[in-house]
Amino acid sequence: MDNKLIVYNSLSRKKEEFKPINSPLVGMYVCGPTVYGDAHLGHARPAITFDLLFRYMKHLGFKVRYVRNITDVGHLENDADEGEDKIGKKARLEQIEPMEVVEYYTARYHREMDKLNVQRPSIEPRASGHIIEQIELTKKIIENGFAYESNGSVYFDVEKYNKQHKYGILSGRVLDDLYSNTRDLDGQSEKRNSFDFALWKKASPEHIMRWPSPWSDGFPGWHAECSAMGHKYLGDEFDIHGGGMDLLFPHHECEIAQNTASTGKNTVKYWIHNNMITINGQKMGKSLGNFITLEDLFNGTNEVLEKAYSPMTIRFFILQAHYRSTLDFSNEALQAAEKGLARLLKGVETLEKLKPSNQGNIDAKELKNNCYQAMNDDLNSPIVIAHLFDALKTINSIEAGKETIDTENLNVLKEAFNLFLFDILGTQKETQNTATNNEVLKDVVDMVLNLRMQAKTNKDYATSDFIRDELTKLGITIKDKKDGFEWEM
Ligand code: ZN
Repeated sequence: MDNKLIVYNSLSRKKEEFKPINSPLVGMYVCGPTVYGDAHLGHARPAITFDLLFRYMKHLGFKVRYVRNITDVGHLENDADEGEDKIGKKARLEQIEPMEVVEYYTARYHREMDKLNVQRPSIEPRASGHIIEQIELTKKIIENGFAYESNGSVYFDVEKYNKQHKYGILSGRVLDDLYSNTRDLDGQSEKRNSFDFALWKKASPEHIMRWPSPWSDGFPGWHAECSAMGHKYLGDEFDIHGGGMDLLFPHHECEIAQNTASTGKNTVKYWIHNNMITINGQKMGKSLGNFITLEDLFNGTNEVLEKAYSPMTIRFFILQAHYRSTLDFSNEALQAAEKGLARLLKGVETLEKLKPSNQGNIDAKELKNNCYQAMNDDLNSPIVIAHLFDALKTINSIEAGKETIDTENLNVLKEAFNLFLFDILGTQKETQNTATNNEVLKDVVDMVLNLRMQAKTNKDYATSDFIRDELTKLGITIKDKKDGFEWEM
């Protein structure tokens, strides 16, 4: 079928057909983590959303250069250019070098993303490795008249920019409204206006991370890195820029202003944002005490959690919601995801064992087309999953002898089921450990049931009933057969 991928563009606020600037090449930039703490659910969602898009675009035949940065300098505690550098602060508290903080948390981030089966981006640049590029960007913006120096720092002149280009095109915010909602500067500030943002900050004497520049010993503003690295690796104009919706304003709005002010070009064709994760209906945050790291989830070590959840359960749970919907975390929802994925994975095994008939009533091409249609409609993964569950029903009813399938359709069914479940949604059969545990469990249950058979042969019905009742309590169903037994849980 002819695949026409439609994506929702946050810039135009509507769905658009995806047409890369230099097809089949696609440039995609996604804002990565600020590496000063462990990866949590809020990191998993953008990583998995853009992994889905990355996988699907490659499947459609695009050559994708996927750049996802690591923020290791310049992200201050407060988005309005105030407070300590997040990484500098962690380094100070732990009495280690900032780059030790960065190495430690970057490695842990990679480990968690690997467990979630998130493919590594093509390039993963660090802000601290691109100070020269950020200085050059700042120089260019000053040269074009959209930034000013103040006491060794450099600020972007939002008001001046707004007169020639429009500030707020992504977020829909209007500068005059923004002003009326904030207090006036008290005259102490280095900024001319409260919405001006830092391109370069002069470092205070105690600030650890600092580099020489034409203006001062200092460090780049947070927004500068993404414009500088996007430009370096993807050029003046590229296809996709993504990230979580929380980055839309001010981060991405400022990036657009920097790009336009430095190159005169709009730079990004499609802006794509994933929605947030809430926990039992509440925003997640360290201060709210409902903060769950991925490590907590995988080990079950957090008060909020009833049990441990495997990485694939988390991945499947995230994909069960459309990326632009909010997604509410709860133990119930995760346990439902765990069961759902297990059923689909069992379906893969059943599918392998199915035998074709000479004639059949199943049209598997329809399933395949339905899955493509859902993916083409702005990556509608929950609908893809719904189609896979429909296919599962068919698989089970063929196995039960209620329906039949011919060779051609069986091949299509196998191909489509595996393609969408594994290659595109990116789920995996569970890890080696879980697989080993399952093997051991199977052997133990078989052994106990063999003991039960012996007891029955010896007419020791008290023991055989005891074994059956105890296993039933554990959720194991036993079916006695003429020549043995079958069980499932
Ligand atoms: Zn960014």
